[in-house]
Amino acid sequence: MKMNQVWIACACAALLSTPLAQAEIKTVVEHIGNDDAKPGFKFKNISAPSKTDAATKAKFTIVDGEQDGNGGSLDTLHDGATPTDEDQPEANFFFRQGADGGRIQIDLGNVIDVKQINTYSWHRDTRGPQVYKLYAADGKAANFAASPKRGTDPEKVGWKLLANVDARPKAGKAGGQYGVSTSDTGGSLGRYRYLLFDISKTEAVDPFGNTFYSEIDVIDKNAPPTVEVAGAAVEDTADDYATEGGREKFSILYADAPDLKDWTRNILAPTVAKWYPMIARMLPSPGYEAARKFTIEFTNRYHGVAATGGTHIVCDPAWYRNNVAPKGQGPGSVVHELVHVVQQYKGARGARIPGWLVEGIPDYIRWYLYEPQTHGAEITARGLAQARYDGSYRISANFLSWATNKYDKDLVPKLNLALRQGSYGDEQWTKLTNHGLEELNEEWRQALADDLGVALPAAAAADPTVNTLSAIEKAAGWVLLFDGKDFNGWHNFKDQGVHPGWQVKDGTLACVDPHQAGDIVTTEKFGWFELQLDYNISEAGNSGIMYHVTDDGGAVWATGPEFQLEDNVKAADPVRCGWLYALYQPPIDPATGKALDATKPAGQWNHVRLLISPEKCVHEINGVKYFEYVLGSEDFNRRVARSKFASMPGFAKATSGYIALQGDHGSVIFRNIKIRPIQP
Ligand SMILES: [Zn+2]
Repeated sequence: MKMNQVWIACACAALLSTPLAQAEIKTVVEHIGNDDAKPGFKFKNISAPSKTDAATKAKFTIVDGEQDGNGGSLDTLHDGATPTDEDQPEANFFFRQGADGGRIQIDLGNVIDVKQINTYSWHRDTRGPQVYKLYAADGKAANFAASPKRGTDPEKVGWKLLANVDARPKAGKAGGQYGVSTSDTGGSLGRYRYLLFDISKTEAVDPFGNTFYSEIDVIDKNAPPTVEVAGAAVEDTADDYATEGGREKFSILYADAPDLKDWTRNILAPTVAKWYPMIARMLPSPGYEAARKFTIEFTNRYHGVAATGGTHIVCDPAWYRNNVAPKGQGPGSVVHELVHVVQQYKGARGARIPGWLVEGIPDYIRWYLYEPQTHGAEITARGLAQARYDGSYRISANFLSWATNKYDKDLVPKLNLALRQGSYGDEQWTKLTNHGLEELNEEWRQALADDLGVALPAAAAADPTVNTLSAIEKAAGWVLLFDGKDFNGWHNFKDQGVHPGWQVKDGTLACVDPHQAGDIVTTEKFGWFELQLDYNISEAGNSGIMYHVTDDGGAVWATGPEFQLEDNVKAADPVRCGWLYALYQPPIDPATGKALDATKPAGQWNHVRLLISPEKCVHEINGVKYFEYVLGSEDFNRRVARSKFASMPGFAKATSGYIALQGDHGSVIFRNIKIRPIQP
């Protein structure tokens, strides 16, 4: 058919002035398998991702489908930054788990002559290959629909089909890096302003068939050559190693921290080479093999100490610079992360995975096996009052060490087995020790008190004023959103009831297990109001309060602005506690040179006041006012347009909605949650 068309065109003299009519669209697919995939996306025929292409400044919008909350925002698709590892959800965009993809629209701002469209993805499994239809439009058709949802054929509303891509390999493993490039043998795909990606899942065997899209590039035929992302440089600043015994391979990337290079080579790499295989042997389970390949990246993108996603560890160079001394905490913090690489408890879906064990086991291995000489997890007389087995990190590590010595030398491997197989429940403790958890808790605290030579402090008496309203407050119109006894008035977002990760505990509304919690919302909607509450966040914890949340978004933050909550000292997110997420932050405090911070440390109660009225909105922490803003004002809208929320059509649009509490980022407890509706 193509030959026919070409011959007809050539016979017609008038078409000589438009030689493009002879041209043919072609799509090239390249696949680099898991073992050879490296940061930088270096393909043979497809150019590496660019950070100066026409998509870099374009507007990306989801027109159908829901983003997966574990992934990055649409920004990751055109920020010129690409993942440095095969399992790095936050560096990719992907549609919600269980869904069959969705549609993304790109607005280039004006009509340009499009030379080429490239898409890049990376995952070690079936989320690697790409399956999509690509449409383009100049937006000038009379019946043009800019945001056609699934069910509307784009070709019927002003769009042209450019490519029908299916990069899934016919044989062999699907994992690895993919590059897909669509161009035209005539040099131009045509003049377009809009692109539409109709993205499909790659498999239906499990819910994880939505591709990890890393970057989308649009090459303008008339623009200067694009600049590639720093892939080559990344390779020059990475070292590859094998563990002791040679079974596993790992890389240490230090592009953002060349000053740490010698330390990573002389101190960190030998520690990792020795301890990773040991940790894998400590935490076995039948049929499970710890990852044989992982990466450790020092990157300025991450703020905190270190964190692990899949087989990728990220470390904050700023923190490590202060901890590289011979006796510094640097290597030990990475040992903790190595345990996360081995744990991989996420595989057991539907099972209850308590956060205190997910963090307690790595800290147990770190403080009691790797560096016992530092006594880093000892509990002091002052800390005793707060000590509870589920205090997470070092506190839970201390409890695990005590229970191991007293009851069962193989306690931690046995707990690990149950957690990985999805059979863990608190009753496990009774089976292993003949004592219930609460009973063990009291026994452990008594042992700590005996060792310290102090009396065991009594559990704090219940404060009768907590979760109550005074007569004056009632008269002023305040209502309690939480009575300290049950979940009345709350449910999980787009779900019935409250997930088991949330509990009512000692008069608090507690997110005790972020893996099983999700975000909860009020049953009632609120328009204008004053909200007050107390929160107490765990070390490195991150949560948030959203308002004006509606059911239109895929996540509560897709519609509701967020009052950020986090442990300002150790949490990873650079958006600090009390800020309106990605939009407003308090002024610089001359005393510190940093943004004003009135929070008390993790583990202590803080008071929040949030006023949302048509005239002004105010954020306060512990009585200190942070800033004011006006919803829908010019200033507000300008900030939204510059933020990641620009791609979310429903963000901050509603003037009434649910209050939401975020539960999937860390342990946090709330109390005294009260609201005073305001009639405008
Ligand atoms: Zn951890």
